[in-house]
Amino acid sequence: MVKVVVNLALMYSIVVSLFIGLFPTSRVQPDEATVSIQWLGHSAFKITTSDGKTVLIDPWITGNPKCPINLSDITETDIILVTHDHFDHVGDVVELANITGATVVCQPETAQRLISEKNLSKAQVIYETGMNTGGSVEIENVTITMTQAFHSSETGNPTGYIIRTKDGATIYHAGDTGIFQSMKLLGEIYDIDVALLPIGSVFTMDPIQAAHSLRLMKPKIAIPMHYGTFPVLVQTTDEFVTEAHRHAPDVKIVTLNTGETYEYKEIVTPTSKAP
Ligand SMILES: [Zn+2]
Repeated sequence: MVKVVVNLALMYSIVVSLFIGLFPTSRVQPDEATVSIQWLGHSAFKITTSDGKTVLIDPWITGNPKCPINLSDITETDIILVTHDHFDHVGDVVELANITGATVVCQPETAQRLISEKNLSKAQVIYETGMNTGGSVEIENVTITMTQAFHSSETGNPTGYIIRTKDGATIYHAGDTGIFQSMKLLGEIYDIDVALLPIGSVFTMDPIQAAHSLRLMKPKIAIPMHYGTFPVLVQTTDEFVTEAHRHAPDVKIVTLNTGETYEYKEIVTPTSKAP
């Protein structure tokens, strides 16, 4: 009798699993968000999504003492983000836009200067005019949101970016900024996976502010940037790592060497990411 019950249970489970197999859409399918983040020194990063789309942020290649590659090494990219109009962030944007045909995202006044002074093709600027803080745009399945930053800029206002991939990875590049309370709000709205944060002091957050910013935005991972490039900046991540462990022990700190790539992987369910 026990054997019959066991066999019935086995048959039942086989039938159920066959049924689920026939109708897979009736189940909530977890997905894996993967994204590659390569540090090109200073604030420059190359982000590659799982479907092979590339985003360059503040690509200062020529003259960047910490950049491990040459301009000729970059032959294709889909999107270029500019956080603000300072030489160490605008860098090679126009040259790279010309080589790759990428869409350039920046503030309207910065777009205007690059078009009129550097001959950037207007057609390659997002909406042909640029965009502003708070706005979002989807390019090549990547959603880009421009955020505020507290710094200065030759044209327009300084910014940061929230970058969301199709499969659910969320990256925040803070640009050049001091700490601000609304970082908490950014964390609440976007559920940040990886935060790219300046820690070098003098022009941006110092290691203590950067550590406290983690307490506000609560990312899963933080990658420090904008240090060690110039003699005046903080030269190592040591103090940041110590302070981060003290003030935000749940955040994993990933210190990259220039040129190194961090592969981010996360299991996400369709309902676990908002908005
Ligand atoms: Zn700057």
